[in-house]
Amino acid sequence: MGKPTGFKEYDRELPPDRPGEERVGDWLEFHEHMPDEMLRRQGARCMDCGIPFCHNGTVIAGMASGCPVRNLIPEWNDLVYRGLWREALERLLHTNNFPEFTGRVCPAPCEGSCVLGISEPPVTIKSIEQAIIDKGFENGWMTPQTPERRTGKKVAVVGSGPAGLAAAAELNKAGHLVTVFERDDRIGGLLMYGIPNPKLDKSVVLRRVKLLEEEGVVFVTNTEIGRDYSGKKLMKSFDAIVLCGGATKPRDLPVEGRELNGIHFAMRFLRNNTKSLLDQEECEGFLTAKGKRVIVIGGGDTGTDCVATSMRHGCESLRQLEIMPRPPAERSSDNPWPQWPKIFRLDYGQEEARTVFGDDPRSYLVSVKRFIGDDNGHVKAVELVDIEWSKDDNGRLSPAPVKGSERTLPADIVLLAMGFLGPEETVLKDLGVEQDERSNAKAVYGEYATNIPGVFAAGDMRRGQSLVVWAIHEGRGAAREADRYLMGETSLPG
Ligand SMILES: Cc1cc2nc3c(=O)[nH]c(=O)nc-3n(C[C@H](O)[C@H](O)[C@H](O)COP(=O)(O)OP(=O)(O)OC[C@H]3O[C@@H](n4cnc5c(N)ncnc54)[C@H](O)[C@@H]3O)c2cc1C
Ligand code: SF4
Repeated sequence: MGKPTGFKEYDRELPPDRPGEERVGDWLEFHEHMPDEMLRRQGARCMDCGIPFCHNGTVIAGMASGCPVRNLIPEWNDLVYRGLWREALERLLHTNNFPEFTGRVCPAPCEGSCVLGISEPPVTIKSIEQAIIDKGFENGWMTPQTPERRTGKKVAVVGSGPAGLAAAAELNKAGHLVTVFERDDRIGGLLMYGIPNPKLDKSVVLRRVKLLEEEGVVFVTNTEIGRDYSGKKLMKSFDAIVLCGGATKPRDLPVEGRELNGIHFAMRFLRNNTKSLLDQEECEGFLTAKGKRVIVIGGGDTGTDCVATSMRHGCESLRQLEIMPRPPAERSSDNPWPQWPKIFRLDYGQEEARTVFGDDPRSYLVSVKRFIGDDNGHVKAVELVDIEWSKDDNGRLSPAPVKGSERTLPADIVLLAMGFLGPEETVLKDLGVEQDERSNAKAVYGEYATNIPGVFAAGDMRRGQSLVVWAIHEGRGAAREADRYLMGETSLPG
């Protein structure tokens, strides 16, 4: 612990964001870097408490509490306070393969469980994490680490999101020959084609992919396992397989008028936007919100990213509909520390919409009753109804429409961002992998083995749509178990 009185002397500080009106005019990252002095002050605030809840990732009340990859947070907070950046980087890389991703996009459940957070605003952990790894790249400390010897065993990783990349990195470290198969044309999964550039610049993803290639990982794009390349062939050609195909089946809204033109799944909008930016031309299926009245249905990360992307296109107006109530400003009594604080947040997209249009675009406790079309079969409005939540006989909350509250909102484009139902099944069916009751690949957490010997599953494909940090954690764990399967023992940490 660098400074015993740091938490009493310094307040929580966050990196400044670029002004909303400026950043809606470009696709650059919206967070500015924090100056070293500010980061050191935040490091000094860490109390090095006896039991650092921040570093012990677990699930409480269905939400992450503490860091899922178990980052050694108090250790690197202290090192940053003392200006020992390279040592801090070494500690960070022990537990997290890709801090440049989590440092940018993680919701930071570590901060929600920081002990200082019981009485004061928590330590700015996530920004310190980002600064450590960014310095690592800037100073040339991040060089390819090739294994000293190869085992001769071949492992296929299916899917190149954070879970697949983490599994590939660890298996390569253990000396196996790793090939990552990706059905899309670029590597990265939702890091590439889900989370937009302003949150995670694609050069950051490409930089990591290049490093992994230099370390010996082979990437094969435009190849869907189960369709372009059979599971049978994969089983024959590789000694072990790690399935990291994500959970990309979107939840639909099957109400009257759903078939109208202009109603799209959010991922089509987001993926094709990023692809067009990277290709520097509009790709097939590109959708624009320019000059349009946009309705985003769903209040999560995907919905927020649709808001931010629509703002950058120059939409005419924007509403975001959320069926849940507006969260409270402070933790409620049934959401105590160290649980993830379910509190009201103004995310980057909503902040930008507020700057340009004057108010937060979200409407709470509403649901869509039907879509209304024009004579050409194109959506022209959405009929909304207010929602009331009540408990049924089993104590389960269920929504009910409030009679007489129907009204319409004009719409030229509607984006459905209501979450995901589970993995696409092609590869699971082709390999004969059992699925659980939620249709995810069936494999016990911590073991990651499916019913097929030598086939492992990790990330969203195993746990359902989640977070980048959980995907990295599971990718590491699946690599550890695949290594154990191949070699009879393992020294991978997982
Ligand atoms: C729009 C959006 C925004 C998000 N924002 C955040 C955020 O800010 N912070 C956060 O922590 N989390 C966020 N998430 C969640 C996070 O991105 C995911 O939990 C995480 O990417 C899951 O990683 P994964 O590797 O399991 O799967 P994915 O990232 O989904 O990657 C799976 C990959 O597998 C490929 N694939 C699938 N099947 C096959 C096959 N048969 N053959 C070959 N390839 C295949 C897919 O094309 C895909 O590239 C967001 C999710 C979305 C949709
Ligand atoms: S990965 Fe997420 S939870 Fe872990 S230290 Fe970083 S921001 Fe916190």
